[in-house]
Amino acid sequence: MIAFLRLLARNRLALGGGIVLSAVVALAIVTPLLPLADPDVTNTADRFLRPFSDGAPLGTDHLGRDLLSRLMWGTRLSLAVGFAAAILAATIGAAIGIVAGYYGGRIDNVVMRGVDMLMAFPYILLALAIVAALGPGLFNALIAVAAVNVPFFARNIRGITVGIANKEFVDAARLAGLSNARIILTEILPNVVPVIVIAMSTTIGWMILETAGLSFLGLGSQPPQADLGSMLGEARSALITNPHTSIVPGLMILIIVMSINLLGDGVRDALDPRLKSGALSRPMAATMVSRSGPAPAPQGRGLLEVQDLHTEFHVKHRTYRAVGGVSLHVETGECLGIIGESGSGKSVTALSIMGLVASPPGVITGGAVRYAGEDLIGAPYRRLRDMRGRNVAYIFQDPQATLHPLYRVGDQVVEAIRAHRPIGRNEGRAKAVELLAAVRIPNPEQRIHDFPHEMSGGMRQRVGIAMALANDPDIIIADEPTTALDVTVQAQILSLLDDLRRSRGLAIVFITHDFGVVAQLCDRVAVMYAGRVVEEGATAAILDTPAHPYTARLMACVPELGGGKRRLEAIPGLPPPVDRLPEGCAFADRCDRVRPDCRAGDIPLDRVGARAVRCLHPVTPLSEAAE
Ligand code: ADP
Ligand code: MG
Repeated sequence: MIAFLRLLARNRLALGGGIVLSAVVALAIVTPLLPLADPDVTNTADRFLRPFSDGAPLGTDHLGRDLLSRLMWGTRLSLAVGFAAAILAATIGAAIGIVAGYYGGRIDNVVMRGVDMLMAFPYILLALAIVAALGPGLFNALIAVAAVNVPFFARNIRGITVGIANKEFVDAARLAGLSNARIILTEILPNVVPVIVIAMSTTIGWMILETAGLSFLGLGSQPPQADLGSMLGEARSALITNPHTSIVPGLMILIIVMSINLLGDGVRDALDPRLKSGALSRPMAATMVSRSGPAPAPQGRGLLEVQDLHTEFHVKHRTYRAVGGVSLHVETGECLGIIGESGSGKSVTALSIMGLVASPPGVITGGAVRYAGEDLIGAPYRRLRDMRGRNVAYIFQDPQATLHPLYRVGDQVVEAIRAHRPIGRNEGRAKAVELLAAVRIPNPEQRIHDFPHEMSGGMRQRVGIAMALANDPDIIIADEPTTALDVTVQAQILSLLDDLRRSRGLAIVFITHDFGVVAQLCDRVAVMYAGRVVEEGATAAILDTPAHPYTARLMACVPELGGGKRRLEAIPGLPPPVDRLPEGCAFADRCDRVRPDCRAGDIPLDRVGARAVRCLHPVTPLSEAAE
């Protein structure tokens, strides 16, 4: 609850709406206690007094009644009727929706067709018809407004209930022998209440307006009793000569409806579970940068050089150091592997390069990313956008998730090109065919018309690669592109990437957790653990003589065909959570070579030639390790 209120308060507009609405409601509640004139006492001698007159702060109406007093009592009535109608409509509508959605079948059909019939009538006409049948009066107006809103709630809640009624936890409740009534009350209802509240918060304002509309037409509150609608209705004839009589209730309706809608939108956003973690803000276009020191001096290594990169996630009071000082470089035409367990910071490193880490909560707090010497951290968004896809392109793990399900793959490839240069229809199609052919999709002329769901996983990933190639980038960053694929397809994709690299002179940064893949594809490899590089060197050298115990353990996890009987070792334990990194070596708790000095302080990355290791007691000392 507290978290919900805090989330709500972060939305300034909703907060403002909430404050105004609370003030209005509070005033309406204390109205009987205030020293106000009697709202219904007429005094024709004092007709149409202007606002700020003696004894009538807001003036008087055509019968000389005190407008302030009538406004307060009218607001009280309008609010009460509006809220009552909303609660009535929500209760009945939700009950109908839950029963129809839960039981389904014929009950659903009969009930919902009835609701549809109600919905087929124009809204206001139906309300008018109901009031005409019941007779004018505020209570009947309330019933009419509630009745016309029931279908809205019933439809909404039925949709949600249908989804929930087929969930496993409802089946489990049934298996446990719970009665239908119990299941509805304890399993279904708690899950639909947030939806009911959201629907109510966004419709109350509308219902207050409708009630006011009926009163305005003389079908709601009857004289001398006033609600905001009837005040407006009575003031109609004096609109030109004495506008204040209309403006006073009109303004109040505006204030109430505006504040309810602002608050309602805020409630909806805050209650929507999808928005909860990311708060109410959309991620920024580029990752936030707050570097305390100056950028490190360029070393001139490689086409892309990452120097001492720090990327953190600031969530509430926690700081997650996902990337804690990573340095890497990749040359033109080279393939660099980044390997490590899940959660070791590989993806965050890769995304930081083009400022793609979501902010909030992501912040780049230090280091530099140099592309051909230019530091990209803190570069203007326009510059980054210009480079994304054109200089540095990404391939992600799950092509099913990265391709748009409703567009043909050819159009998506063309769109990737269009992001950077205008291209005509025919030229675009020709280019798409050429790209699909380049990634060895058979019959590219036909396949460009396929939707993503019509392709196999391997074919979809080829489309992903084709899109990455669309603007002839110099560097492709592939984040576990084959993890979702089976082994044979993985082998095809790897050989495709390798060919592309050789034929186009691409630099590839290949992220994986599989040493087998690294061995096939990568020239050099960097091993990451808990947000830092713990070992780096030529692939062959590292495979030959791993130095860091973690690297050695990772390699022992790879099965070898025909390698005879060998125990496959899982690494015991888990990586440390990155918001509570231990002092010293982060791997110490899982390491069989650990000694007391491992936990004493920061462990530097030792370099000998092209090899580097961050370990005090390496498996093979660098001086003896292969280069
Ligand atoms: P991987 O090496 O598997 O690609 P990631 O780079 O995705 O790992 O994640 C590195 C660390 O960053 C993980 O420990 C993860 O918990 C943390 N992390 C990633 N995204 C967020 C986030 N939005 N908020 C907090 N922590 C995050
Ligand atoms: Mg990842």
